[in-house]
Amino acid sequence: MTEGLVCWKCGASLAEFSLPLRRLEECRHCRAQLHACRLCVDYDPRVAGACREPTAEEVRDKEHANFCDHFRPRPAAHRPADLSAAEQARRDLAKLFGES
Ligand SMILES: [Zn+2]
Repeated sequence: MTEGLVCWKCGASLAEFSLPLRRLEECRHCRAQLHACRLCVDYDPRVAGACREPTAEEVRDKEHANFCDHFRPRPAAHRPADLSAAEQARRDLAKLFGES
């Protein structure tokens, strides 16, 4: 089921795709490649290599189609305005100290 899946880049629904996603599948809206770290459940910019799967081979390019065997698309992968990790960290810190 691809219901709830959205493009990591533009947020467009990916409901029309069937799983597993083929490696060269692209968002119909912005043409972002979908078989990429940014759409994966294991993608996490806060960990080393930005991947939570310890046995996955390191993928340097997080935004283009990869050959990773562990790829699984994550629902709601879209982050508005594409905050950089540094900016997100700064905001988290500000929130921690009660700033708005
Ligand atoms: Zn898109």
